[in-house]
Amino acid sequence: MITVLNVDGQELTPCLQHRAWREVNRSRAVWVDEHTIQLLYNPFLFKDYRKTALKRDRYQCLWCGCPATTVDHIVPSSKGGSDLPQNLLASCIECNSKRGNRSAFTYFKEKAYSVPNPVKLGYRIVKATCSSSSKVKMIG
Ligand SMILES: [Zn+2]
Repeated sequence: MITVLNVDGQELTPCLQHRAWREVNRSRAVWVDEHTIQLLYNPFLFKDYRKTALKRDRYQCLWCGCPATTVDHIVPSSKGGSDLPQNLLASCIECNSKRGNRSAFTYFKEKAYSVPNPVKLGYRIVKATCSSSSKVKMIG
């Protein structure tokens, strides 16, 4: 078992080795030593981050303007995107699943004609993409 520390260094429930590697590979955690990882996000806050993002975007999908019930990661977790509100967009289920693993820029170009507020969305994408790539550079 791998010891898991949260952002503040407190010990959380231990996890299996493959789970630990997955968190590290997604840039969500770093190895402290061979038996310990430290999370770079607060797992208990994610629920609140989602709520914060949905509320901020007024429960309206930023891709198409339909009522939003889910959040979409601008930079996917698999590419090191965080679970912080600045990397989340309110999204309807349809846009969330249609976009899949494509980059936010690609989907933005495809949806450009139906995006209710392209300036706002474009700004969000650029901001989240820049902060995520600088974080990766810092760690790697
Ligand atoms: Zn939508």
